[in-house]
Amino acid sequence: MLLRHTTAFEIDRKALTINPAKTCQPIGAMYAALGIHGCLPHSHGSQGCCSYHRSALSRHFREPIMAGTSSFSEGSSVFGGSANLVSAIDTMFTVYNPEVIAVHTTCLSETIGDDLVQIVSKANEDGLIPAGKQVIYCNTPSYVGTHVTGYSNQVAAMVKFFSTATPKKRNVINLVAGWMEPSDMGEIKRLASVMEARTIMFPDMTGVLDTPLDGHYKMYPDGGTTTADLKLTGDSKFTLGFGPMSTEDACIKLENKCKVKFEMLDIPIGFKATDRFLMSLSRHANLPIPQTLSDERGRLIDLISDSSKYLYGKRVALWGDPDTLVPLAEFLVSLDMKPVYIVSGTPSKYFLEKIPEILKDIPEAKFKCGEMADMFRMHQWIKQEGVDLLIGNTYGKYIARDENTPFVRFGFPIADRPGHNYFAKTGYNGGANLVKQIMDAFLDHIDRSCLEEKVEFQL
Ligand code: SF4
Repeated sequence: MLLRHTTAFEIDRKALTINPAKTCQPIGAMYAALGIHGCLPHSHGSQGCCSYHRSALSRHFREPIMAGTSSFSEGSSVFGGSANLVSAIDTMFTVYNPEVIAVHTTCLSETIGDDLVQIVSKANEDGLIPAGKQVIYCNTPSYVGTHVTGYSNQVAAMVKFFSTATPKKRNVINLVAGWMEPSDMGEIKRLASVMEARTIMFPDMTGVLDTPLDGHYKMYPDGGTTTADLKLTGDSKFTLGFGPMSTEDACIKLENKCKVKFEMLDIPIGFKATDRFLMSLSRHANLPIPQTLSDERGRLIDLISDSSKYLYGKRVALWGDPDTLVPLAEFLVSLDMKPVYIVSGTPSKYFLEKIPEILKDIPEAKFKCGEMADMFRMHQWIKQEGVDLLIGNTYGKYIARDENTPFVRFGFPIADRPGHNYFAKTGYNGGANLVKQIMDAFLDHIDRSCLEEKVEFQL
């Protein structure tokens, strides 16, 4: 395997990224769009881009991902794809009847300079957007930004096109979901409902990318935030945003447009981030935290205590998105583990502010974000001094195999294991899922690799 030739010797690269810890902007925009009920995402570019975006999401969620494409030909690649998009809007509303079409651009359409404002206005003037339906759009050139930026841009577009302030304010808290699994969103909603808080989550992929197999195909599954709820977000009393990289832009736009104030939270991975979420919700919704949630927390603490002798001092390498890496690193440190190497391909002020603080008692830790923070570099760090555990997406499996290191799959994409979208990592129960996964990885590794005479029935 090629990675076996990775050496410990680092050179300062400026123009080459190897095994990047990120993917392309429109994938994030497409994923976010699927969190609107009845939405058909549309990729304004070549068929190849759209196929890639759809297949990346399908491989991860193991669900069909429906999306339109402007199908650029040689002509549109040179002269622009305005006519293609206008025609696509007409065809999609006529044939597939979505509530919303969410357009995002691609490298090609951005390089040509296609103007989505003008193109969608033309479709509107030509009467191609039926009454009550909506075309929203955002710019997602993939030569800048990453899938996280694309997600953020599409979530901000939801505010721009839908959120409306009326004089009638409602006792509702907006929950702006950062990039996480549908199960993670479901767990956040469950925690809020246990507290009896009235909330609107957007985007909301529950019931969209985790649907039951019942023999009936639905082009538009039952889940997703409705356009009616998206409009009502402007009348809510407060907004909680989960993960600054993917939601802060939307929260700022909502405050500017509708005067709904917000608080930016970490995605609630681990008990500390979950505590902060519940206390914030309690404060802003003026509701107590019920005993059932304290009990869930207590069970997580009990599991951590039972596992502590295996977790203490273990060196971990992580890769993924800033919004999940920050609370994950915090959780690992609270488990007495040592996240010694952390990389994210997404440049992030949030990452650079929070990670040094979280790792302040681990002087040997190395971390990097941005274009040059690739997994090849992380592998070189591992070659210099090994780790006990890897946590990240499927692209790390080659490193795990070459280094014979336990590996917990986490983040996007996970292309080689099904089911991850059903088991939350958020909240106290999600924290317990994560600790169990980590423990299983460690103990399976010990059982497989220890000397025969050392195999123990009880560990
Ligand atoms: S050309 Fe750009 S938008 Fe298309 S798949 Fe590649 S990186 Fe993504």
